[in-house]
Amino acid sequence: MSNKERIIIAGAGPVGLSAACVLAQRGVPVIVLEAEPTLPENLRASTFHPSTLDMLSRFGVSERLIEMGLKAPSLQYRDRNGWHVQFDFSLIQDQTKYPYRVQCEQYKLNGVLLDWLKANSPETEVRFSAKVMSVKQSDEEVTVTVETANGTEEISGRYLIGADGARSQVRESLGMTLEGFTWPERFLVLTTPFDFSKHFEDLASVSYFADPEQWFFLLRVGTHWRVMLQTDPAESEETLLSEAYIQEKLQRVCPRDGNYEVAHRTLYNVHQRIAPTYRNHRTFLAGDAAHINNPLGGMGMNGGVHDAFNIAEKLARVWLKEADESELDRYERQRRPIAVEYVDKITIQNKKDLEIKDPEERARYRAKMEDIASDPEKARQFLLRASMIASLQRAATLG
Ligand SMILES: Cc1cc2nc3c(=O)[nH]c(=O)nc-3n(C[C@H](O)[C@H](O)[C@H](O)COP(=O)(O)OP(=O)(O)OC[C@H]3O[C@@H](n4cnc5c(N)ncnc54)[C@H](O)[C@@H]3O)c2cc1C
Repeated sequence: MSNKERIIIAGAGPVGLSAACVLAQRGVPVIVLEAEPTLPENLRASTFHPSTLDMLSRFGVSERLIEMGLKAPSLQYRDRNGWHVQFDFSLIQDQTKYPYRVQCEQYKLNGVLLDWLKANSPETEVRFSAKVMSVKQSDEEVTVTVETANGTEEISGRYLIGADGARSQVRESLGMTLEGFTWPERFLVLTTPFDFSKHFEDLASVSYFADPEQWFFLLRVGTHWRVMLQTDPAESEETLLSEAYIQEKLQRVCPRDGNYEVAHRTLYNVHQRIAPTYRNHRTFLAGDAAHINNPLGGMGMNGGVHDAFNIAEKLARVWLKEADESELDRYERQRRPIAVEYVDKITIQNKKDLEIKDPEERARYRAKMEDIASDPEKARQFLLRASMIASLQRAATLG
């Protein structure tokens, strides 16, 4: 096999590893290059939508995520005054094998995908401490320059998937920037063992709280709850991560005697940005390298995994001569509009809904949500969008 007879994937995150599994399962040679020395275990996304579980089930991964996480059969929209509406995923059980969200840390998915590759495709190389620095392309091949512990190396392949995250070096090397905007306020994610379900009546494991002063959402992940809220743009990072600030924020979420135990705290910038194109010659961008959005709705990682399956299946078809090269153009035609029409739109709307300040507008929002929740067909359509099944159905009609 000549050097270029493989597909290169930059990044061993959920997107890169999902794409690697799809390709490896079809017998396509793959090399994954990961900048870090091991799989990063930082706390990031924790929601797996039914549509993503359906995809990942082909590797037995969904069952592992269920074992390691928890099933959330419903989601709620609430306010602090006890108002709430609930949506039950049982309404879409004819559309998915998994009529619930699974709450499980995203890094656990990465570990399971890597285990799958080791067990089922030992010839697939996942190389750590291998940071892609730049990309060169010709009509026949793509070559990446990689920084390793032993110096710089060039690695060639027939195609490249840039799944190297929001700060994608692959994207930068090709002169592309993500277009859109950054919210002025950063989001704070706090993990605590405090059991909010004892303090908010009938609390679902996934609950979004609208509030004109301080919206937040609560997610149960394992034995802990994760609280996500926005911070004051005028404050310094040091203040926002300080114990005093965090305790004050948590007391506003749910007043209690004494301090909260905080197991993890993460502060991060939130963007709504999309790459102008998902394909550059022999290179394809997927996941955060192609689009980033706010986490309200849990669509970032899920949308990225959907990208991964889409491009990897197309590359496999072309590699195995089941389709000609034009198949690859369908990736951008199918996936980019989803980032624009669904992920970006829905996540921005979710944020706007939670932070409505005007009392009349808030009343209209509550009435709208009550109307949707009380009508089974409207609730079903709402859940198909929220669980990203509708976006996959739409993508299938494009390109
Ligand atoms: C703090 C934080 C919290 C988040 N919380 C949520 C949430 O609650 N809900 C939600 O839906 N989404 C959330 N997200 C977004 C979600 O984590 C991403 O959408 C998801 O990780 C995208 O997966 P990915 O594989 O595209 O990128 P990543 O997970 O970023 O993976 C990219 C991989 O590429 C590697 N890499 C980077 N550069 C290179 C290079 N040059 N060469 C080789 N390898 C490289 C990285 O080390 C990493 O392993 C959060 C993100 C952050 C940062």
